[in-house]
Amino acid sequence: MKTIEQIGAELQGYDPQALSASAVNDFLSRLVEPITDTEELGLFDALGRVLAQAVISPINVPPHDNSAMDGYAFKGDQLRPDAPLVLRVVGTALAGKAWSGQAAAGECVKIMTGAIMPPGLDTVVPQELVTVRTESVEGLAQASTSSVRTEIIDIPPGLLQAGDNRRLKGEDVMADREALQKGELLTPSSLGLAASLGIKTVSVLRQLKVAYFSTGDEILSLGETPREGAVFDSNRYTVFGLLTRLGCQVIDLGVVRDDPALLEAAFTQAARQADAIITSGGVSVGEADFTKAMMKKLGDVAFWRIAMRPGRPMAVGSIPVPDEGRSAVLFGLPGNPVAVMVTFLAFVRPALLRMMGANTPAPPLLRARSTEAIRKKPGRTEYQRGTVSTAPDGSLQVQTTGNQGSGVLSSMVQANGLIVLHHAQSNVAPGDEVDVMMFWGAI
Ligand code: AMP
Ligand code: MG
Repeated sequence: MKTIEQIGAELQGYDPQALSASAVNDFLSRLVEPITDTEELGLFDALGRVLAQAVISPINVPPHDNSAMDGYAFKGDQLRPDAPLVLRVVGTALAGKAWSGQAAAGECVKIMTGAIMPPGLDTVVPQELVTVRTESVEGLAQASTSSVRTEIIDIPPGLLQAGDNRRLKGEDVMADREALQKGELLTPSSLGLAASLGIKTVSVLRQLKVAYFSTGDEILSLGETPREGAVFDSNRYTVFGLLTRLGCQVIDLGVVRDDPALLEAAFTQAARQADAIITSGGVSVGEADFTKAMMKKLGDVAFWRIAMRPGRPMAVGSIPVPDEGRSAVLFGLPGNPVAVMVTFLAFVRPALLRMMGANTPAPPLLRARSTEAIRKKPGRTEYQRGTVSTAPDGSLQVQTTGNQGSGVLSSMVQANGLIVLHHAQSNVAPGDEVDVMMFWGAI
């Protein structure tokens, strides 16, 4: 792990007192490293975990050419643009029960969705496109003068091309090819895809362990008797939720008072138990508490002023665990409840994903028309809570949630995303398009 000084030297114009939001992400991506411990898990347990190894498919999916429709399979080269095609039905192919005969020119096989295409047949006409009639065929029954009823279908011209409604062997996944990439965050669809290959277990990185505690003498744990000037600890719950949604193992250390011995014990325990430590509170300028002093004493820590709103102060660094020869990454977030969530989403979440070994690209920002004027000073990034909705004309619009105070947690509950007003951007006029970082599954 690099030191704060090394990374600072790598970055052009690094100024801890005036960092842009993008410089923060750049810094953190150089600070944190992916974990490497792996475990083998059954698919049900692997949801939300990160693949440690690519999954190579042992089979073709689908394993055979098969029908995409209920209908009739035939040789497509018989289709003519100007004349109907008349075919005699000579057999039936069911899903899971192939038809083993040979169909000649002028013949077709009734086929169900998923049934293997009979040999030599390449095209399926859906049953709703044909007219079916029955005809007597004389002398077909062995040594008998009686007639046999067979079905005849008529396919009107111009509806089909050779190869239609046939799924090709391996068109989803080819045998011996990579079906899932290393670093993939396993979603419901990736679990399903692994299962479709017959794969029962996958090699994943272990869960990232993140310890969290709140600081501040005014912070009350739930159940404590309210006293003047004190507030309940909401950060403990938002951080718990954000980390849990991300798939981390959360180590909850509660509230730690402004007492050097308690803070030292909390930081030491957190570093020993976790890969990353998140604290909230006590990092702002002129803060009278001991949090910053303890971070400085125990670790290699930078204290930043970020050109952003909300969430200007933040501490970042590492706390060594000497007897293990490793360090825990430290994210010292500001105390204000909205600032905690915003700095988590903007900086901590991408850094933790990198530590988790995930290769997920940042989700794209959405563009939406602002329904109102928004005041914005160039020279800092602002994150306003917004609600994106569909306008009557079908386009996307976004409205701020009103009071944007960094302690107004109800604004986060109302919003479905953060309007990102970029560093150089100035005032927004009604109708201007703005970028929105949607919460999607993060919140
Ligand atoms: P600080 O960054 O410590 O100066 O805190 C800024 C503001 O956030 C203060 O009003 C604190 O009371 C509030 N705050 C700090 N920690 C928490 C917490 N865990 N839950 C709710 N509010 C908090
Ligand atoms: Mg404080």
